[in-house]
This record gives sequence, C-alpha cells and structure tokens, in this order.
Amino acid sequence: MTQSPDWVRLQKALSVEAEYGFTDLVGKQYRFSEFLCLSFGQTPTVITALERRRWQEMASQFARYPQLTLLERQHLVAEASQFIQQIEQGSAGAQGRRGAGEKMYNQQSKTQVKQPPTTPIVKTNSEANSGYSSNLSLDQPLANVAEIGVRKGGYLTKLNLYTVRDLLFYYPRDHIDYARQVNISELEAGETVTLVGKIKSCNCFTTQKNNKLTILELVITDQSGRIKLSRFFAGNRYSNRGWQEALKRRYESGSIVAASGLVKKNKYGLTLDNPEIEVLAHPEDTIDSLNIGRVVPVYPLTEGVPADMVRQAVTAVLPAAAQLKDPLPSVIRNQYGLVGLKDAIANIHFPSDSAAKEAARRRLVFDEFFYLQLGFLQRRQALRQVQNSAILLPAGKLIEEFEQILPFKLTNAQQRVINDILNDLQKPTPMNRLVQGDVGSGKTVVAVIAILAAVQSGYQGALMAPTEVLAEQHYRKLVSWFNLLHLPVELLTGSTKTAKRRQIHAQLETGELSLLVGTHALIQDPVNFHKLGLVVIDEQHRFGVHQRARLLSKGEQPHVLTMTATPIPRTLALTLHGDLDVSQIDELPPGRQAIYTTALTGKERNNAYDLIRREIAEGRQVYVVLPLIEESEKLDLRSAVDEHQHLSESIFPEFQVGLLHGRMSSAEKDEVINAFRDNKTQIIVSTTVIEVGVDVPNATVMMIENAERFGLSQLHQLRGRVGRGSHRSYCLLMSSSTTPDARQRLNVLEQSQDGFFIAEMDMRLRGPGEVLGTRQSGLADFALASLVEDQEVLQIARDAAEKIILRDGNLEKLPLLQAELDYRYQKLMGGAILT
Ligand code: ADP
Ligand code: MG
Repeated sequence: MTQSPDWVRLQKALSVEAEYGFTDLVGKQYRFSEFLCLSFGQTPTVITALERRRWQEMASQFARYPQLTLLERQHLVAEASQFIQQIEQGSAGAQGRRGAGEKMYNQQSKTQVKQPPTTPIVKTNSEANSGYSSNLSLDQPLANVAEIGVRKGGYLTKLNLYTVRDLLFYYPRDHIDYARQVNISELEAGETVTLVGKIKSCNCFTTQKNNKLTILELVITDQSGRIKLSRFFAGNRYSNRGWQEALKRRYESGSIVAASGLVKKNKYGLTLDNPEIEVLAHPEDTIDSLNIGRVVPVYPLTEGVPADMVRQAVTAVLPAAAQLKDPLPSVIRNQYGLVGLKDAIANIHFPSDSAAKEAARRRLVFDEFFYLQLGFLQRRQALRQVQNSAILLPAGKLIEEFEQILPFKLTNAQQRVINDILNDLQKPTPMNRLVQGDVGSGKTVVAVIAILAAVQSGYQGALMAPTEVLAEQHYRKLVSWFNLLHLPVELLTGSTKTAKRRQIHAQLETGELSLLVGTHALIQDPVNFHKLGLVVIDEQHRFGVHQRARLLSKGEQPHVLTMTATPIPRTLALTLHGDLDVSQIDELPPGRQAIYTTALTGKERNNAYDLIRREIAEGRQVYVVLPLIEESEKLDLRSAVDEHQHLSESIFPEFQVGLLHGRMSSAEKDEVINAFRDNKTQIIVSTTVIEVGVDVPNATVMMIENAERFGLSQLHQLRGRVGRGSHRSYCLLMSSSTTPDARQRLNVLEQSQDGFFIAEMDMRLRGPGEVLGTRQSGLADFALASLVEDQEVLQIARDAAEKIILRDGNLEKLPLLQAELDYRYQKLMGGAILT
C-alpha cells in the first residue's frame, strides 16, 4: 500500500455516497464504509500530529457507519470530505479554493460543530481554514477564532467575553453528568433535578382566553419515559408570531435538551415547575458532538446568548489553556494541595470525572480568595510603611482618672481589646482596627479609652455614627464622662445650627476642642482639625467606603478604630476588611440575663398584649417595631402612624404611646426618645430607626411586627434594645408567615443569644449578599467561591497570602503574581475599593 492516500478516489467515494442518499453503497471490492475505514486506517506521512489523531478517529467512526442514522451518516461524510480537503490543501494559504466535494455537501448540511466554518463571514478570515485551535493565543479576540467568528463573537461580548482568555475563565454554573442523569420515569415530586432528553414535540401559542399569556410546551423523552414541560410568558409582546416561531426553531424536534427545575405534580402527571431549558445539541450536530458519555458544562444563562453557543465556543478555545502560565509558586501549590492552573481551567469546563472537577474548583476558588487577600495584605503592608501618624501614649492621667470614675470593672474581653488598641496607638504607623462586639458588650468604653489616649497625648479625636439618633446618644454619654474629666466635647450633625457650627469649626481649628461627635456632617468639607489623632467609626458597615476615605483625608494619617455591633462571620470579615486588624469583645458584662424570645402568630397576639400590660403595670416599658414595608418612605410612615393610632386608641388607651419614624426632624425624634427615656411614654412605636444604640434600661419588651421580613442580625440588634437593665426582658417576634423557611429563621433567634452564631446562620440562610446589602458593602463578586461553603479554602488562601507578603511584600520576585493581582483585584472589587 502506498503511504499517500489517493485523495481523488476518497473524495469521489464520499460524493457518490452522498449522491445515493448515504446508503453505504456496495462497490466492486468493498462497501463504502469498509473502503473509508481502510483508507483512514493508513495514516499518511504528510500530516501533523493533531491531524493524525483526527485521521485515526475517522477510521473508527467509519467502522460504525452502518449503525449510524441517516443524519449522522450525512454529517460524518461531510466532515470527512472537509477534513480531506483541508489536508490536501495544507493548512497554509488555503483561502478561497474549495473542493467540489465540499460544495456539494454544503447543500445538504448546515453542520457547524468541530468543522472548519463554512459561513461567508468566516471564509474571508485568513485563519478560517486552519480548523484547529492550537495556534490560538490567549489574547486573541474571540471574533478572530475560526470556530467562533464575528457573529458569535458579537454575542459573547454581551457576556463581557472578548478574548480567548476571558472565555477560558468563564466558568460553567453546573455540569450535567450523562452517566448519572435522572430517568424521567423515576422522577419524584419535590426534588430538584436536571434531566436530559430529546424534544419530541414543541408548541408555542398565545392562549385564547387571555391574549397576554403565551405558553411554550415541550414534550421530552428519554429511554425511560416522557414528560411535558411548559414555560409561561406574560405580556403582549410574546403573542408576536415571529417571536413564537423563533422559539420553536430554538427547540426544534430532535434537539437534545437539559431541563432543570423542581418536580411538581399537576393534573396531567409530573412536570417541572418553570424549568430552565437548555439546548445541548441540535439534530444536525455531528455525532461526536460534545455530549456523549461525558460530563458536560452548563453555562450561566443569559438573555439572548444561547448556552450551547457558549459551550461550543469554549470547546474551540480550550486548547489555548495549555498556554496559561501559573502565577502561583509551585511551593504554595504543593503545600496546599492545589492543582495547576492549566488543569484547573481544562477540568472546570470538561472534567474527566467528579474528582477532577472538585480539584479544579478548589484551585479556582482558592484563586478568587487568594488574590483578594493578597491585595488586602499588600495594602496593609503599604500602609504600615507610612511612619507619620501620631504617637498616642497609653500611660497618662486621663485614662487613669477615667478608669476610676467608671462604676464597673472592665470585662476581660474589654481589657484585651483595649490592650490591642493602645498597643497600636503608640506606633507611628496608622492603626486600622475593627472591633466586633455583640450588642451591649461595652464597646463605648473601649472607644472612650482610645480617645483619651489621643487627648492626653495632645491630639484630637472624632467619633462618627451612622445616624443622628446614635450620634446624639453617644454624645450624651460622652458629655457626662468628659465633664467629669473637664474635657470639652461637641456634637455636629446635619441639624446643628449655623452659629453653633461656626463655633465648632473654629474650636476645632485652634485645637481647643478635644472631641467631636457626629454623623457624616463631621466629614463635610469646611471641617478642619488642628491635630486629628484618632477617628472612631461606630457601626462602620453602614458607612460607604467613600465616606471612610473622605474622613481619612481629614488628618494626615489618623489612627482608625471601627466598631460594629453586627458581628459578621469570619469569612465575611476577611473578604470585606481583610486589610484591617480585627479584635473581638466576645464576652458580655456580668449579670446580663438571656432575653426570653418567642415567635408568635397572629392568633397569639392577645397573649403578647397581655404580657405588655403586665410589664407596664410593673413599671416597665415597651418597644413596638415595624419593618420597612415598601421601598417607599411614605408607606412606612403610613404603617407606623396607623399602628400608633391603633395601639394608642384601641389596644392601650390607658397608656401613653409615642411614635418614632425616619421622617421626623431630629429635634422631634429627640423629644420622643427623651419622653420615653423619662418614662413619660410607656410604649414607643417605631420604624427601624430605633435599631441601633438607643439605650433605655427600663424597657423590657421588644415586640417586632412581621419579624420574618428582617434579617436575623437585625432582629438580634433590635432585641438588644431590651435586657439592658436588671429586669427580665422579652422579645416577641410576631409573624403570620408559616413557611418552613421563616419558621427556621425565627427559631434561630429563639435558640440563641450569640450574635456571632446568629450572623453565621443568617449568612447560611440568606446568603452573604442579602446579609450585607451588597451594593453598599463593597463585597467582592466571586464567580465560583461561596462564603458559606468554602470557608476552609478561604482560610488557606489567607494563610498563603500572608506567607507570600511576609517574604516578599512587593512581589518583586514574583512579577507574574503581581501582574495577575493587579488584573484580578480591579475586577473582583469592581472598583469599589477604598483608595
Ligand atoms: P455596645 O457594645 O452595644 O455599644 P455599650 O457600650 O453601649 O454597648 O454598653 C452597654 C451597657 O453596658 C452600658 O450601659 C455600659 O455602661 C455598660 N457596660 C459597659 N462595660 C461594662 C462592664 N464592664 N461592666 C458592666 N457594665 C458595663
Ligand atoms: Mg454602641
């Protein structure tokens, strides 16, 4: 046999087979399939290694030709024809000229998968006929990739995917394991499944009764049975015939789809509730398309970008993963058992098995955390190189005096945290410390001692709170202490009168004012400190990062102490403030009793009212809190006003009932809170403005309406408004919601008084974004990583980052790592970083 096949004879055989309708013609010596199988059995010497593999695959595919369906035969023949033509021409300079065979098959086949493209757009592209991705570069625009082209490339830009690298790092949201798919016949109501099957029929129509409702109906079969799936589209625009036809084309009969959703029983049997349906393969796809016998990636669904297109594009660029350089030093990789980047990328898309997929995911999750931590730590390191902040001394008259006038002994936890702080303050590098401590753990005292360290060293302090109510509360407390120490302190909020404001500004500039307490008015422009040594920010998560930055720009490099009573889980703390040092006051002052907490339904409302009457008869006081009903302040106001009226007129006419809401001026709020503090009103009806800080030790009942609408940490905060005195206190969580979800959440509060535990549960039950209110929080946007599931990986990522920064803070020996960090950090934080 000759080493060079007879190209003409091969092409001839292919075109004759096509002409006769793919019947596996019997020739003089061989059947068509035998001839092809034999021909591909001899590997020509002139071809590249990659071509050789494909060539050999062809042999085995033609061996199975008699078993293939007509459609599959058609595709195989077309593919072989193009392949032969391509080799014959050589891959270089192959523009324009096309063999007769291909022209012919093009009329019969629209096939795109794994073949040199035949669309006119791509044909004009110089790379079009290469057919292989081995010469792809990572920064190559997707539109220039032969298998993708300008049109699909355009689609991909909608997903912010522009280059080969972008696509490699576009991770699937899930995988479908064909070996382990659910059989339709075995579905059970209540489970969430992904099933794979063939579309038997597809119908799309607007209902006669309601012309605003359009229904897509698919019947899907697999080897075990059939199921009918429906999707509903509400709105006139869906009654458009063109739209409906396009949808039917997308879900044409014979396509293989993956459908996922909750299994539900209706009167016709089982179905999936509002399923997500994704086309995995079209009927005209070649048989060796992506799916058979392997784990197939499913990409995030996006309006207007077919998921199967993404999958094909990823397949096309995947070979370029081999060019990725791993910026992570191998020492680190080995130490933490992480796979290399190339393998991780290849396996996150097309894993060979589930272990490979897990290893890939672990590595990529690690990367997401690692670069964030590396950025935080590098920033912290840079800050520490600044050596010009005030040296604030712990030993001094003021702190001593203060500790003497305190009517109680500091808890061990307070003392420990104070030591951390005082230690930081005597260094010329600015402190950047976060103190987390549950409601009532005594953070104010800690802040005061830090402030006194500044004052006794000749510097000024500023204390900033998120609301006027809170700022005033702090001010009141501080004034009484500072008076005893003969120190001046002032309050500056949005409602401070102009004359007073001028006076404060003047005293700040001369330095005669030691401490300024306020809201964000405190950082508005005309405020200039003489010598600002320390800034304390209370409830810092309520401040936007920009406000924080603004404040820092007020002094040269003031020390910053942030305090929060909403403890957040460690994973969140690390991802949010990985550049801060964190101290925890994990102990309450002695004598605090647990607050009796119970969730009540509407039916038990009278019991709640009885309890309230009993408590007031004992001389105690009560909060009634209403949730934010709507985005609209007006509606919230309405509900608070209505509830106030209802309670004061119909339920508790014998008591004085106060009303507090966000629309009041701060003078009005003051008046209401003062009346309550003085027990002139026994009940205060409030929106959530009461949430933080208000301190009335005589209040013993916190009744929260529609408790299921609050986050757990917020409920815990509200609960912290009672139990501040020596009397037994109660928290009544009113909720008529009976969903297991709502029950479970409120149950956490009934069971626990530990803010850290509650925060952790809140994150598990609602997700980190909800817990923080993502927009404001500056929480990094992870593609794969979960703050709930991946705590262990976060910890090792933090360790690894610490090790690297310790050894080589500027990453001078690791330029690849620095480059990757710059690229990632920007992307991760979406620009929302404090600079
Ligand atoms: P939070 O951490 O919620 O800001 P506060 O600083 O308002 O807590 O303190 C809550 C209450 O506990 C205050 O009345 C405060 O005076 C009191 N307190 C603080 N530390 C102690 C302590 N070590 N022993 C007893 N009471 C304390
Ligand atoms: Mg406080």
